[in-house]
Amino acid sequence: MKFHVLTLFPEMIENGLRTSITGRALERGILSLDAVNIRDFADNKHSKVDDYPYGGGAGMVMQAEPVYAAYRSVAEQAGRPLRTVYLTPQGRTFCQQMAREFAQEEELVLLCGHYEGIDERVLEEIVTDFVSIGDYVLTGGELPAMVMIDAISRLVDGVLNNETSAESESFQDSLLEYPQYSRPEVWRGRAVPSVLLSGHHANVEKWRREQSVLRTAKWRPDLLAKADLTEKEKELWKGEVQDGN
Ligand code: SAM
Repeated sequence: MKFHVLTLFPEMIENGLRTSITGRALERGILSLDAVNIRDFADNKHSKVDDYPYGGGAGMVMQAEPVYAAYRSVAEQAGRPLRTVYLTPQGRTFCQQMAREFAQEEELVLLCGHYEGIDERVLEEIVTDFVSIGDYVLTGGELPAMVMIDAISRLVDGVLNNETSAESESFQDSLLEYPQYSRPEVWRGRAVPSVLLSGHHANVEKWRREQSVLRTAKWRPDLLAKADLTEKEKELWKGEVQDGN
């Protein structure tokens, strides 16, 4: 999958993503990253791309033309208009389901704002999706773009070594993942649940599923309402709610 990031800080994107799992996938050519510096498309010798907002008010606004020219350069290379996400606190809140949907794209453009944001007219012209990573305001769209790219990338075939590890995780089937343990068997007096040492695969699976339901009931009951639960699991959920009261 190919990510094009339109940004004023390409080095931030490069440094953030060319490490660890995404870094390996980029080296192996499973992913491709094109950090496009919007400043390269400024039409003045100081590479200035922001200006005062019409109507007054604090801060600066990124101008339409350099953003548009940066987008055009990418779309022309692709030979077609590309799905383009503007990272903004005003967008739909990013979630695992959206990551799954974006992972189906061959190419994706992510547009990062800065200062007070970007001239509305270019957003109307090129943006297909407005996405937020949560109800708080950051200084720029680079961290949100990296959050999205990381979450999407791990759903692209071949990025994770173990194909199943993206399948049994939190938010799959509207459940949080069960707790995980590794060596030693006892750490500071806390033992690993004995069922995990039993070697009995069916019992391990049963325990994990129960733990997922209990954990989701405790921490994210809003998710459970959408989960496909058996009658017995619904009882577990009710028990957890009563214990919590
Ligand atoms: N004035 C804008 C507003 O109130 O909606 C906020 C601008 S913010 C300081 C600068 C840039 O950071 C935005 O253009 C956007 O790209 C990015 N940004 C900030 N918070 C974000 C969030 N929660 N999710 C996605 N992008 C965000």
